[in-house]
Amino acid sequence: MNKVRRPPGLSEPGAPARVPFAVATSTVMARTTGGLYAMGGILGTTLSILMPHDGPGNRGVVAVAAFGAICFGAGLAVLGDRVRPRTHQVLVGVGTILITIACHQSTSPIAALALASFYVFAACDASFFFSWLNASVQIVFAVVCCMGVLLARGDLPWWAGLVPAGVTVAVGGVVGVLARLASDADIDSLTGLLNRRGFDRMLHLELARATRTGQRPALILFDLDRFKSVNDELGHRSGDAVLQKVADEWQQMLGGNRILARYGGDEFALLLPDMSEQAAITLADDMRERIALGCSAGVTSWQPGESGSFLVSRADVGLYRAKQAGRNRTVLESSRRPPLAVELVEAIARETLDVHYQPIVSLTDGGATIGVEALVRWTSVTQPSVTTQEVVRVAEENGLIANLDRFVLYRACRDGLELQAALPDRPLILNVNVSGLELVEKDYVGRIDEVLRATGWPAAQLVLEVTESVLDVNTPTAIANLGELRARGVRIAIDDFGTGYSSLSRLKTLPTDFLKLDGSFITSITSEGEAPPLLEVIALLSVSLGLPVIAEGVENQFQAAVLSSLGYSLAQGYYYCNPQPVKALVERLSKEAAASQRSAARGLIEHS
Ligand code: C2E
Ligand code: MG
Ligand code: MG
Repeated sequence: MNKVRRPPGLSEPGAPARVPFAVATSTVMARTTGGLYAMGGILGTTLSILMPHDGPGNRGVVAVAAFGAICFGAGLAVLGDRVRPRTHQVLVGVGTILITIACHQSTSPIAALALASFYVFAACDASFFFSWLNASVQIVFAVVCCMGVLLARGDLPWWAGLVPAGVTVAVGGVVGVLARLASDADIDSLTGLLNRRGFDRMLHLELARATRTGQRPALILFDLDRFKSVNDELGHRSGDAVLQKVADEWQQMLGGNRILARYGGDEFALLLPDMSEQAAITLADDMRERIALGCSAGVTSWQPGESGSFLVSRADVGLYRAKQAGRNRTVLESSRRPPLAVELVEAIARETLDVHYQPIVSLTDGGATIGVEALVRWTSVTQPSVTTQEVVRVAEENGLIANLDRFVLYRACRDGLELQAALPDRPLILNVNVSGLELVEKDYVGRIDEVLRATGWPAAQLVLEVTESVLDVNTPTAIANLGELRARGVRIAIDDFGTGYSSLSRLKTLPTDFLKLDGSFITSITSEGEAPPLLEVIALLSVSLGLPVIAEGVENQFQAAVLSSLGYSLAQGYYYCNPQPVKALVERLSKEAAASQRSAARGLIEHS
């Protein structure tokens, strides 16, 4: 049985090779230690105010020690990841000394006992972040200080320190064991490296840090060439031994702040928190040379705004190309973006994009507005003529679509409330376009929930438009996400229906509430010829499946009349209204509301 070893990847150069577990990053340590210091300081200050004025100790010293702890805590929180892991060990020791001084100088034995309970803080911090050896040293130090100082006061019996000391040992031990058990879920038991789960967690933390600090992490994915034949010809034991050897070689080679993981069977991932693509290629080549087996590598680097999964998928493309090119090589899949994408990142971050709205009208109710479709609008400085479709494509190709769509959804839900207020007599539906790339993300439903919660737009009035081609590919996560959203009341429309590849039979099983008939069908309705027969078929299909169709791109009265005669009930297009900014549409809807009130009043008068 192989002994599980801890990953050394997260330590600073010169720090002990084995840290207790994956979450022990400099930032987490600094915030935890800082928080405990500050909390201890605040409680200590309060006690120094409340304790008796006369007594054996000195309240002033207790107050100074407590104030010092608050300052230390605040400093640590501000310094964050600039504090080296080794410094934390010194800081926990300093904390223990401050508690000891406060206990010694407190003017009442009861206050001294209360202050002694803070030794638990030191034990928790040490057990959580340090190796067992270092944590034990800190706990023993805390216990000795606790027993010693309470005895030295002379106003307490020798056993007074037993409870705080015992609690310190017990809590430290339990926290240490639980933290290590939880951490084992992130570690690959064969190699002792992080596993995929642990790596993804670290990737998330590192990208959040890079966003704050402006660093540019690089990522390398390795895949051992022909590893399957090692397993097949020499057996799985030999395969395991090869994987361990590779992990050992690379661990020895990589000192410092690097995150190495076994990402899959014979796949390894290496995250380099701040490294250029060129330096990462050199490192990948060195690592490949270090092992006896052939190995392919894909290299890429992170750009602000990109998700972790997008970064991994780009490195994967590099790896795939390395294999295609004949294996045993490194291929760079550069993250350098085209200028339009760089400009778009800025626009999303500064929220200088706009959203326009196009009404969706009822053909059976005299053109009454029943909803709006949100469409993103952006004028690029470098390419002013770029179309919305191109903007969406650039966003998709450069990992920006999730951010773009989140911005549009948020803005649309907020503006939706304004539009709804202008037309209070009927609930409006709000159609928002969704990229298929986003739909496959696991936390997609959570993101929609968050926007709905933040804006207060009702789920039952939201329709997500997904293009047919996206739904046609075999993506169970996308289908599951759509199912979950529907369970919350959100409805789904298949956009550009008729241009994709969906077989009609699939429509029955797809999570769908509306079909949006592609504008190309409507364009073919001209006064010169017969209406295309397919339009009639789709109208019948809509009735038999119980799926309302929204006809897109209606540009003239003739097309509208033909659609009505074929039984279509909903439409959208320039004939009714161009996409407009929210203010202009509010005006239009207010007029519509006033007109419908007038006609209702007229109806009432005529009736009576
Ligand atoms: P779509 O969802 O099918 O949107 C309808 C498109 O048809 C819009 O183009 C709209 O301006 C245009 N349109 C409306 N009425 C007429 C008409 O009578 N005749 C003609 N010829 N066109 C009409 P737009 O705004 O350029 O958007 C193009 C596509 O870009 C959209 O097609 C949608 O797939 C995508 N898109 C737009 N906004 C977003 C967004 O926020 N997120 C995502 N993921 N995609 C978006
Ligand atoms: Mg659409
Ligand atoms: Mg469409």
